[in-house]
Amino acid sequence: MNFQSIEQTKYISVWQMCLSQIKKSTSEEEYARWFQPIEPIGFTNDILRLRVPSQRHLQHIEQNFIRVLAPIVRTNFGVKASIRYAVPQEDQSASIRGYSTQPDVATIKNPFIIPGLKKVKFDSQLRAEYNFDNFIEGSCNRLLRSAGLSISVNPGTTSFNPLFIYGSSGLGKTHLAQAIGNATVARHANSRVLYVSANRFQSQFQYAAHHGELNDFINFYQMIDVLIIDDIQELAGKSKTQNIFFNIFNHLHMLGKQLILTSDRPPVELKDIEERLITRFKWGLSGELTPPDKQTRTTILHSKIKNIHLEVSEEVIAFLADNIKSNVRELEGALTSLEAYSRLMGQPLSIDLARRVLRDIVEITTTEVTIESILNLVSSHFGIELPMLLSKKRTRDVAQARQVAMYLCKKHTKAALSAIGSAVGGKNHATVLHSCKTIADIMETDKVLSQKIQEIERKLKY
Ligand code: ADP
Ligand code: MG
Repeated sequence: MNFQSIEQTKYISVWQMCLSQIKKSTSEEEYARWFQPIEPIGFTNDILRLRVPSQRHLQHIEQNFIRVLAPIVRTNFGVKASIRYAVPQEDQSASIRGYSTQPDVATIKNPFIIPGLKKVKFDSQLRAEYNFDNFIEGSCNRLLRSAGLSISVNPGTTSFNPLFIYGSSGLGKTHLAQAIGNATVARHANSRVLYVSANRFQSQFQYAAHHGELNDFINFYQMIDVLIIDDIQELAGKSKTQNIFFNIFNHLHMLGKQLILTSDRPPVELKDIEERLITRFKWGLSGELTPPDKQTRTTILHSKIKNIHLEVSEEVIAFLADNIKSNVRELEGALTSLEAYSRLMGQPLSIDLARRVLRDIVEITTTEVTIESILNLVSSHFGIELPMLLSKKRTRDVAQARQVAMYLCKKHTKAALSAIGSAVGGKNHATVLHSCKTIADIMETDKVLSQKIQEIERKLKY
């Protein structure tokens, strides 16, 4: 018997020694379920080969018992020993994977490559109807649109990584993010592009954590080439999900993979999102989608009309474009309602019909900027109760918030200075003017205040 064959027979009894130690560190049930079915099949060149019944079995051991198993194997087979698993061929790709028994490599940073994963077809969750061809260009989206196109040509290697798209609801964030995904797949058929909403990401994470599948979850996300996460503001306050996302973000970014994020507000205004994430969001390009101008609204309408094969007069198109300004989704909604009415009533789509239908929609959707809405927003943003804001109190905070309110009223409403003055607690028009000038001056140097005001303005308009 040569040395090799002595080793070959000895390993079985050494494995038995391992098992008796493992038994002491696990419950009877765990031991019976997870360790008894393991079959040692060889030990050569410091590699212990173990046959496990299935892929799932292997993953379970890796996730839950590697801290027990690895040191015991090293103690009995020598410090250099490592483990290889053999999995019965469930499919062509399932075979052997390696795991070094060095300390610290367990769980978190374990480069856990699931055999055959590369062959797994996964659903990108992209919808073909969101593409660049039907994403109408305008000054409202030019920068982001062209950054998106560059990304689809060279994902991960432009300076737009991450691409952070923000803007109010209905302005095309999801459409643009998906269009980038679709265009990337069209150019790079093998690249793994994934679209996921932050909410879905969060629930997948919760599910994985609950079912002991965190490694799978992380590994899945770490193999993506272009990761699109929609509505990232939804991760607010969810610190565990943020933490896992932070790790995935770093991993992908380091490997030159592309990240695309959308949000209803710019990074600096994200609430309850960790600073280290916000910092990363600002690494690439962040840009805002703003409401389209009239020309763009008109072109969007023309493009949608072409798609639904509807006849609409220029007059009606102009009427829609004039009246629905701040939201593309509503623009589309109005068109859909008009179409439905016109078909239902068997009437041509006249300007009268448009007026009647639109009256309802516009009433619900256009929020006019009023003194009252400004006062409410200032009150909540500055954390000062409304009665206090409108009182005569002159502490610095309150006085400044009041001045901001006057400034915003002058800028965004048509109200007379005297009307503004009396609304904020009986000031005369000279005081209002003075306040406006004071705030305009302070804003030039005080970044924090100026950001706060911009944030209020953004909310005002939608
Ligand atoms: P968000 O995600 O910002 O809330 P969406 O991407 O869902 O907005 O867009 C709302 C609707 O408006 C979608 O049907 C989208 O196709 C359409 N839309 C937005 N911007 C454009 C654009 N520039 N050209 C064509 N359609 C647009
Ligand atoms: Mg969206």
